[in-house]
Amino acid sequence: MASPNKAAQEVLGYNHDQVATFRKALNDLADSAQRDSDRWFPDTSRDLGHIALALGGEVGEMQNIIKKIERGTKTLDEARGDLRDELADVFVYFLDVCSLVGSDILYDYFTKQTYNNERFTK
Ligand SMILES: [Mg+2]
Repeated sequence: MASPNKAAQEVLGYNHDQVATFRKALNDLADSAQRDSDRWFPDTSRDLGHIALALGGEVGEMQNIIKKIERGTKTLDEARGDLRDELADVFVYFLDVCSLVGSDILYDYFTKQTYNNERFTK
């Protein structure tokens, strides 16, 4: 089994230093999102349950837009701006969870990708 760092290099076509930079950037972004939450919502920013519910709420907002596309009320092109906005909200709360849990998300992603690759590749 390839190490997560080796897998990242192979999949992304990055060298060791590029993977290290990308990994640090994602962790720095999660810490930045957490600092924003601490400034804007100090009463709830460290409450993992609250943040998980907020993440679910933002996923629901994204799904509601996709529901409108599915039923033909809007086209994807008409909804793209709103979808991008909700995806950013999802990403912010996802990063907050990463920060609160102490996830090293790139490393964890490629740990899972390596596992799934061996599990599902026929
Ligand atoms: Mg939203």
